[in-house]
Amino acid sequence: MKNVIFIAPPSAGKGTQSKELINLGYDHISTGDMLREEISKKSDLGLKIEDIMKSGSLVSDDIVFELINKRLKNNSKPFILDGFPRTLNQAKLLDNLFNELNIDNYEVVYLDIAMEEALKRALGRLTCECGASYNIYYEPLKPKCDGVCDVCGKALVRRGDDNEESFRNRFSTFLENNEPIKEFYNSKNRLHVIDATIGNEIVTDKIKNILDI
Ligand code: AMP
Repeated sequence: MKNVIFIAPPSAGKGTQSKELINLGYDHISTGDMLREEISKKSDLGLKIEDIMKSGSLVSDDIVFELINKRLKNNSKPFILDGFPRTLNQAKLLDNLFNELNIDNYEVVYLDIAMEEALKRALGRLTCECGASYNIYYEPLKPKCDGVCDVCGKALVRRGDDNEESFRNRFSTFLENNEPIKEFYNSKNRLHVIDATIGNEIVTDKIKNILDI
């Protein structure tokens, strides 16, 4: 089982694919989740980054790298990096850290999706605190009853940064930063591009092949 770095624009399905790998024993390292946790704890860091995250802009490289650094140094399982690196500078910092920790067993999976398709996925997405997630624009993913979780009956919520303006900002920021990151990993022969719209199960199979699972 190789380690994996997921590089993908928002709503390309990183979360869904990560769940599949977690079930197979992977540790899920998501900078977005770690940052949201700081916000919900109302820590000093959380207060500092709340507005930046709401606007869909990137948190500084120093802050996110510190979180990743700590986490990888305490990690013993195969891992998924979800949402990191997001800039070329972050990719280089990560490369140094991998060298320091002798991590060479990894591949980079890029999930490719067009902005309008991703926007539909994001704006329709509703989640429940129990972990269930839904999409009002895709028939099989709609909740049975509007706004209510099928699993536990609680009210469904939209993620704070899932509005159109913020989404377009996040997507454009991703595209701006992405090209050099792809080139960086391509030059290391680690990059694998997968069309994210071919169906979740097919995407999962392709990922498993790449990671020797
Ligand atoms: P995500 O859950 O991965 O979509 O991330 C949500 C938000 O967290 C992003 O829009 C950024 O504001 C912030 N964020 C997450 N990962 C990073 C990162 N690697 N670098 C900078 N900001 C990040």
